[in-house]
Amino acid sequence: MLASISPMGLRELNLGFVFRVIQNHGPISRTDIVQHTGLAPSTVSVITADLHEKRLIRTIGTAASSGGRRPILLQVNPEGGYFICVDLVGTSLAIGLLDLSFKVQREWDQEMRDTGEDLYQSVVTAIREVVTHCTALGLSILGIGVAAPGLLDAVSGVIVEADNLGWVEFPLGERLQAEFGFKVVIEHDVNAAAFGEYLYGKSEGVRNMMYVSIGLGIGCGLILDGQLFTGTNGLAGELGHITVDPEGQRCLCGKRGCLETIASGRAMVLEYRKQLQYMGNQAQGELLEIDARSLVHHAEEGQEVAETLIDRAGEAIGVALGNQVNILNVDTIILGGALVARSPLMVHAILRGVDHALLPRLKDHLETRPSSLGVHAGYIGIAFLCFTKMFAAANVV
Ligand SMILES: [Zn+2]
Repeated sequence: MLASISPMGLRELNLGFVFRVIQNHGPISRTDIVQHTGLAPSTVSVITADLHEKRLIRTIGTAASSGGRRPILLQVNPEGGYFICVDLVGTSLAIGLLDLSFKVQREWDQEMRDTGEDLYQSVVTAIREVVTHCTALGLSILGIGVAAPGLLDAVSGVIVEADNLGWVEFPLGERLQAEFGFKVVIEHDVNAAAFGEYLYGKSEGVRNMMYVSIGLGIGCGLILDGQLFTGTNGLAGELGHITVDPEGQRCLCGKRGCLETIASGRAMVLEYRKQLQYMGNQAQGELLEIDARSLVHHAEEGQEVAETLIDRAGEAIGVALGNQVNILNVDTIILGGALVARSPLMVHAILRGVDHALLPRLKDHLETRPSSLGVHAGYIGIAFLCFTKMFAAANVV
């Protein structure tokens, strides 16, 4: 069975849980960690001892005693190690260097023109530059995480099929690991972003969440009952391919009239160029220059054709989301991706669509809001997965 994310084992869950409690509540004593996590004191002791030995957490004095020995306080050591996080989203090859508090310390971004083996070589070159940067500064690299689109097997690190990247059955994890010698974790881009948003966005108290990414395509990551839900074949969340018009245009997936054929950045740019050409007030060369970024810019400036396209797309996405909420009854929808980040108009239209489709009795139980981590959600999610998978595999717990 393919899974776009490997189910978390108990070790990973416990390790991640303890680390996040130290991160969120540190400086904190072991006794308080036991209280926050509900884990056995012996489990907490083993985990914290190992994290401490590896310099991932540090002691910072003692707390006031409530009778016995003064408890030692622990906090995360942000400089204890760094993650190189690669995000292969849209048309760019972006790399973030994150410290152990999962903050983005530095970012590199370049246009992604290549596919197949050439793309792999570009990724290797880009990562090598970051490794050189880290070596020069004496920073210790803990691992490499890659958030990629398409269908992938997170357990084996194989990209099963990613048309945009030109990778089929591509052993990305294995090759990068052999190239650099660091642990490599591969994850689906939208799932990584959903996970990052769930763990480190303003998601306190959230149990059931849909994270929607709207850029060149439309993807969705689902957190149900506090866990990533990926479905039987790892294909859950293909929001972009729900049918909105059975007679509509042919989609990249082979069906007709998918949501992506009217509401993705890719589809909107094509339609925008077509309409401008029809109006005849733009040269062919200028038309080809138009991309999703300029479309959004024109819409936000009040250019009518662009505005209508964004509005129509946003409403269609909102209706699709509202319909999904009627089935799943999630409490939160997080809107992410480049188009949402740049277009208040689109957010407004999405909210209208959700409101239109949602059952009235669900309206008081749903919050829909833009991502609080923005384009960094993917980096943060993949870094956290990297962290838990690496140390759980090293028999920390
Ligand atoms: Zn489709």
